[in-house]
Amino acid sequence: MTGHDWGYGEDNGPLEWYKDYPIADGNRQSPIDIVPAEAVFDARLSPISLSYNNCTSVNISNNGHSVVVEFIDSDDRSVIRGGPLENMYRLKQFHFHWGCKGCSGSEHTVGGKTYASELHLVHWNAVKYKSFSEAAAAPDGLAVLGIFLDGNAVDFKGFNPKCLLPNSLEYWTYPGSLTTPPLHESVTWIVLKEPIYVSEKQMGKFRTLLFNGEEEDERKRMENNYRPPQPLKGRKVRASFK
Ligand SMILES: [Zn+2]
Repeated sequence: MTGHDWGYGEDNGPLEWYKDYPIADGNRQSPIDIVPAEAVFDARLSPISLSYNNCTSVNISNNGHSVVVEFIDSDDRSVIRGGPLENMYRLKQFHFHWGCKGCSGSEHTVGGKTYASELHLVHWNAVKYKSFSEAAAAPDGLAVLGIFLDGNAVDFKGFNPKCLLPNSLEYWTYPGSLTTPPLHESVTWIVLKEPIYVSEKQMGKFRTLLFNGEEEDERKRMENNYRPPQPLKGRKVRASFK
């Protein structure tokens, strides 16, 4: 395996990543299994505040590992603030992790429970850093909002991130990493407790769309694009709710 061809297959999947990215065995890797009973309620955690301007969405693409929707991040039109964050973080892109039909596909799990899919909204600290890549390598550079998708319900409204939010913004938060190489340990994770619901029919469409690569091996690579939970290594998960 060389740096550019990591993936989710037997030969280049998450268990092999450490060969090119030794930080895979680091002390603050993501995702994790969130055990609600062990999460500590922290009254100092304020609510998170999201202001997303859907007009800043520029481009949807298949990068070989996921489907990615990118945003213009040259100004503060789409930002997250509050919660565990010291300042505002700009939305850079969102993408999904998923399984195959009948499989689970979320990266984070909750007391061992998996969800059908997980949405990641990736933000960077433009107050403190000059570029996304500079932020991605810094311990407080990124904030990723994780939202579970549960595959049992009827409605899925589309790609406006605001429509992808559940009613409740209660969350767990912990210090972690990117869940794909280069696995930088730069992420403040904010994982929403409440999932959003999509129907199995719509998950099917979603998979068709996402697995529709030109080549057979590309389709194969796009399946099950999630990393399993990593060791907690003494980290505390804080909860915004009791
Ligand atoms: Zn992700």
